[in-house]
Amino acid sequence: MNNQRLEFGRPVSSKRRLQDLLLQKDNRFCADCNAPDPKWASANIGVFVCLKCCGVHRSLGSQISKVLSVTLDEWSSDEIDAMIEVGGNSSANSIYEAYFPEGFTKPGPDATHDQRVKFIRLKYEHQEFLQPSLRIVSGKSNPPKSISKGIMDSFRITSDSQHMEGMVEFIGMLKVKVIKGTDLAIRDMMTSDPYVILKLGQQTVQTTVIKSNLNPVWNEELMLSVPQQFGILNLNVFDYDLFSADDIMGEADIDLQPLITSAIAYGDARMFDDMQIGKWLKSNGNALIDDSIVNIVDGKVKQVISLKLQNVESGELDLELEWMPLDY
Ligand SMILES: [Zn+2]
Repeated sequence: MNNQRLEFGRPVSSKRRLQDLLLQKDNRFCADCNAPDPKWASANIGVFVCLKCCGVHRSLGSQISKVLSVTLDEWSSDEIDAMIEVGGNSSANSIYEAYFPEGFTKPGPDATHDQRVKFIRLKYEHQEFLQPSLRIVSGKSNPPKSISKGIMDSFRITSDSQHMEGMVEFIGMLKVKVIKGTDLAIRDMMTSDPYVILKLGQQTVQTTVIKSNLNPVWNEELMLSVPQQFGILNLNVFDYDLFSADDIMGEADIDLQPLITSAIAYGDARMFDDMQIGKWLKSNGNALIDDSIVNIVDGKVKQVISLKLQNVESGELDLELEWMPLDY
């Protein structure tokens, strides 16, 4: 131990807090490959990584991973606070590596560059290992096709064809950004503690609970695997209640047909400039506040949706859907 770290010309306490976090046991090994003594960090993701993995993080771009050296770079207090809030490699990995497909092992310290690139992109860019949205609830615990395909291509895990039987055939992923609620219904004395649940077939994902807020802003991204026969995406808003069953604060059904049909018709959206490719029309029979347009934006197929919550006295909800084809 030396005291060099206390002389970097920024508040000692900040630098010290970062060093203390780095010395935490789980942070003594790279979050991605387990190599000892990581000296780099992704400030926005909140993990400490080794030099080799750091190079891969950097190649993803700073919008996905903002790489900083623990010893060489100037850190802002906000960046340090964000790292501390995540709590280190173990707690970050409990989210980003919540669910590995059966038989999958993550790369080790001796992994090749290609193995690292594939793993790190799947882990952070595609967020393939998040819990619980990617888990198939029904039947066997086989991974969805998108995961198994990516993993098997990447790591050549053997699979026999019988293993694939009974699997649901997935045609893509749906990223749902739950943006905000407006003028939600009151369920406690004066306010509510709302959260949103999305259901697609057997899959259920939910946002965090926002305490005492009738105009909550989530900006939270949830992932669902989309089966061939995808049906309706059902949205429910609930009031979290510690002492009794949670109260419903409205619901809405979302027709995925316009998004998915147009996305599939256009194929690789990266080949197109920004443009409108489809529309879900407002009608008396649906919860739309306005017509909802399907657009190609920066090579991605997206749809902004404003919903009037149904079977409730008040409340609106804003979402953004993004279609993610399997072969990205
Ligand atoms: Zn590493």
